[in-house]
Amino acid sequence: MELATSFRQTWAEVDLTAIKENMKRIRQRYPNKKIYVAVKANAYGHGYIPVSEAALETGADALAVASLDEAVLLRENFPQAPILVMGWTDPRHVSIAAKSEIELTAFQPDWFTQAAEILKDKREKVKIHIKIDSGMGRIGIKTKEEAYAVIEEVANFSSEFEISGIFTHFATADSFDLSYYQQQLDHFYEMLEMFSPIRTLETQVHIGNTAASMRFPDDMVDGIRFGIGLYGLYPSKEVEKISAIQLNEAFSLQSRLAHVKELKPGEHISYGATYEAEQQEWIGTVPIGYGDGWIRKLQGFEVLVEGERAEIVGKICMDQLMIRLPKPYPVGTKVTLIGENGGQRIRVDDVADYLETINYEIPCIITNRVPRVYLTS
Ligand SMILES: *Cc1c(COP(=O)(O)O)cnc(C)c1O
Repeated sequence: MELATSFRQTWAEVDLTAIKENMKRIRQRYPNKKIYVAVKANAYGHGYIPVSEAALETGADALAVASLDEAVLLRENFPQAPILVMGWTDPRHVSIAAKSEIELTAFQPDWFTQAAEILKDKREKVKIHIKIDSGMGRIGIKTKEEAYAVIEEVANFSSEFEISGIFTHFATADSFDLSYYQQQLDHFYEMLEMFSPIRTLETQVHIGNTAASMRFPDDMVDGIRFGIGLYGLYPSKEVEKISAIQLNEAFSLQSRLAHVKELKPGEHISYGATYEAEQQEWIGTVPIGYGDGWIRKLQGFEVLVEGERAEIVGKICMDQLMIRLPKPYPVGTKVTLIGENGGQRIRVDDVADYLETINYEIPCIITNRVPRVYLTS
């Protein structure tokens, strides 16, 4: 369980068996569609390499990331896997992608002009996924004019560009109200028709994120981009309620008591001395803090010690925090910040609810100072 390379008493556990099980379930639901797994941001904080390996082993077809840097890192470790960059890449770097067989997202007519010049010189070809902005308002082709201009560029430079994909991203596929989703879908199909002159048999249309792919299997075209579900988290409470797929949460966060002491009434804890013991109390010190991503807003939230809930009291420091214990425990006793402990459980969703954010953000903000330990059975 302990990392040989780490002496820390704080670590995150990533259950690769859970990740593989989640992958197998989405694969069962889509036996014949291309499944891109979203492993950007260090696989949502779970670890690029072990997660990608687990997903590829259990049915993922391709890896999807946000940047060329992430793609290059994955290419070094996965020489064969298709890798897609879903964000914008500077066209000056197109040759790196071509050489490493990394597929890029593009949508600006100028981008194609600039990239084509470089590729033509070097006699290279790059695989492109054209992004349509059907209502997310982030990146992609919005208007018919932009679409015509891109089609013209691609047609002019057929030796430089291969259109491997056409895709869009939904803004509201995780909510009950489906009117905006439907509007995006309609808009996407309208745009898609325009691209038939540059579509080939190799061109995959992929539109669904986890929410859309779990809810609307009939709407998915050739492929899906599966992110949060791979990690065993539901994109929203709405999706969790109606989900046909049971997911297994993969991430947990653990530490050990570094110190235990008795506080007398009137004594204080941490910066600002804002916490005052009202009676005799047992206080434990846990070696994790906001420098690990366990942010100060988590003051007042609970952790688990021997199946008991213990409140975080006083200000959370950069490297340590204090908890009020029901009784004294020995130094070294396990403290669970996320996960199961003695029959009790704190879910990633509980942390997200306390912070009034979404579950996606929680494993992402646990910094690299916290070693990831991989469980394989
Ligand atoms: C991150 C991302 C996904 C995955 O979304 P989930 O909600 O995690 O499934 C899909 N498509 C794009 C463009 C993304 O950036």
